[in-house]
Amino acid sequence: MLDGAAGRSQASGQKEHMQQYSRIQTQLLAKQAELSRRLQSIKDNLTSGRSADSQEQAQELENAEVVDALGNEARNEFSRIARALDQIKNGTYGICIDCGETIPMARLEAYPFADRCIRCAKAAETERRSR
Ligand SMILES: [Zn+2]
Repeated sequence: MLDGAAGRSQASGQKEHMQQYSRIQTQLLAKQAELSRRLQSIKDNLTSGRSADSQEQAQELENAEVVDALGNEARNEFSRIARALDQIKNGTYGICIDCGETIPMARLEAYPFADRCIRCAKAAETERRSR
């Protein structure tokens, strides 16, 4: 799914940046592994249809829908993680998308997917509420 090739060619200048975020990267990779295990078991559940009885089949279909919703959630999180890992690799991680400032480490450790600094996040939040 992710070939990991992007950014590998420009390794030297990014080393420091990657080191700075290596703890977050490790966390994200662990989370990603856990999610892909979960997605795999969801897939296994979906494909292990075993009943002949039609009532049971209806029940299974219902279960499949629940499982599918869980799967969507996991997939969303998976892609957020993939994006963050990409940003770490490319040296664009931890930079506020509004003002371009570096997002404080403490914030990133609490919210690994934060793409705004606290100030801009608050401003965006205020704007959303006033609408
Ligand atoms: Zn900002």
